Amino acid sequence: MSSNLIKLGRREFFKNTGALGALGMATVVLGSTACGKKEPSKCDDVSSLNPADKKLRESQDYEDHTSHADQTCLGCTQYVAGAEGQCGTCKVIKGPIHPKGWCKLWVKKT
Ligand code: SF4
Repeated sequence: MSSNLIKLGRREFFKNTGALGALGMATVVLGSTACGKKEPSKCDDVSSLNPADKKLRESQDYEDHTSHADQTCLGCTQYVAGAEGQCGTCKVIKGPIHPKGWCKLWVKKT
């Protein structure tokens, strides 16, 4: 009985929401894939940077794990993703960049 209610609910959902419902389901699938992606533990080795690049990184308050939950490097237009489990890079801030990092230059990716 309850599985019939679930099937009916899903059918009604698509019937009533059409393309918007399909888009929502695609978002759920893509979102769960992204959540399952392995991330680097830290991206803080700046030993190869010159003093000016280190200073810029510090002056813009770059941090590996930000408290700005809605403004991570992953969602920034300047972020360039690395391989799975590896640090990414940034078009502005030199050195390894964590997908969950942040700095004061954050700009929403469009
Ligand atoms: S500009 Fe800042 S927030 Fe954006 S990717 Fe670079 S380090 Fe991250």
